[in-house]
Amino acid sequence: MTNNLYVYNTLTREKERFEPLNPPFVGLYACGPTVYGDAHLGHARQAITFDVLYRYLRHLGYKVRYVRNITDVGHLENDADEGEDKILKKARIESLEPMEVVQHYMNRYHENMQELNLLQPSIEPRASGHIIEQQELIRKILDAGYAYEVNGSVYFDVIRYNETNHYGKLSGRKIEDLLSNTRTLDGQSEKRNALDFALWKKADPAHIMRWSSPWSEGYPGWHLECSAMSTKYLGMQFDIHGGGMDLLFPHHECEIAQNMAGYGQPSVKYWMHNNMITINGQKMGRSLGNFITLDQFFSGDHDLIDRIYPPMAIKFFILQAHYRSPLDFSNDALQGSEKGLLRLLKATGEIDSLQPGPTSSIPVNDLISSCDKAMEDDMNTPVLIAHLFDGVKWINGLSEGRHTISKEDLVKLKSLYHNYVYDVLGLTKSEAPDPGKGITGDLVEMILQLRSDAKVNRDFETADRIRDSLTSLGITIKDKKEGADWEIN
Ligand code: ZN
Repeated sequence: MTNNLYVYNTLTREKERFEPLNPPFVGLYACGPTVYGDAHLGHARQAITFDVLYRYLRHLGYKVRYVRNITDVGHLENDADEGEDKILKKARIESLEPMEVVQHYMNRYHENMQELNLLQPSIEPRASGHIIEQQELIRKILDAGYAYEVNGSVYFDVIRYNETNHYGKLSGRKIEDLLSNTRTLDGQSEKRNALDFALWKKADPAHIMRWSSPWSEGYPGWHLECSAMSTKYLGMQFDIHGGGMDLLFPHHECEIAQNMAGYGQPSVKYWMHNNMITINGQKMGRSLGNFITLDQFFSGDHDLIDRIYPPMAIKFFILQAHYRSPLDFSNDALQGSEKGLLRLLKATGEIDSLQPGPTSSIPVNDLISSCDKAMEDDMNTPVLIAHLFDGVKWINGLSEGRHTISKEDLVKLKSLYHNYVYDVLGLTKSEAPDPGKGITGDLVEMILQLRSDAKVNRDFETADRIRDSLTSLGITIKDKKEGADWEIN
């Protein structure tokens, strides 16, 4: 298996040639959601980034095992191993079983990911289903001397680990800085050092998600699940670990430490991280009122959004930025993306009806190599899309008879667009005309308003002409007492 793919490795801070440990197999692990709330744009960006990577590696011919976990236990409200478990808190507020909360939001997450046309991972392990594996890893870390037990809880000894390893190497932090930036322990804490993190926590009497262990009835620390489950399904060493930049520290840093301490070797060859999304220049946050869920985008039900945005428009907007660049949401930007997407999908569909001529007046091979190079350069989807748009001009020229294309080039052009637009980027045809949503819907509503104005002015001739014209376009109008209903046939 050969390729020219280069990926940016967060660990080495360099673009590196992608060479799998055991070709043609590739192990890909990406951190999944903690299922206690609806998925938002940030979840979408992370899932889309690693879906495109998964699809692209398969397109290159690799056999990829893609593992994306579900966090359903142990993720506490803050990183200092304090606060309530996020799922338990939601369950308490809603008077539900914790696993009801998990099931509900996991189902919602899956629905959203399907709406975005993402492939399902090969394995989707849940933390609560891997308590034994996590306990085994704790035992190994304890045996190696990198953890200690206090009152039934087990903590990772960061200072001890850092004597022979570099805690902070992934996120570029130094232990001295971390120590001086961390508040000192208040005497209540069981930890030897504020930087230490929980591997196992003894459950309070009120904490109902609990399992027995050699140390206490309790539950695992959040970082542990990814070390234990990636090792179980991808082996002690695997190719790619992905996640959002917000997981770099402490989550992934702790994961590296756990693997080194427990298994004596680094687990991951390439660490890849996608950047965050801001909303009108602001960080997203529940308290800031700018926390827009995917369902709110799809239904138009949020003060900050002008109208309904179909899932493919959200996806295309995300793909028009490089995954390592910051991305700012605004209505204008998203509407621009939606228009671009329609243009791209329309042109892709039109290739099927093009007729070949004796020669080509357009350099199809150049376009193919430009597109390939863009993806080989650390999955540069915005550059890929820009090249595909260059080709859209040609496709339009071919439709209008301003260009010609040979039979051989037409086959190549068709497979180029089908491969990249449908298979690698995972954009779907079905959303192309966007019936009833987005710009088409806005236009129909506008025309119906003109018709109802005509009726108010007793201009029934115009009103009927508008209805007949819409009918001939395949849009059925049903008059009601107030306004009119419509649907695209
Ligand atoms: Zn993780």
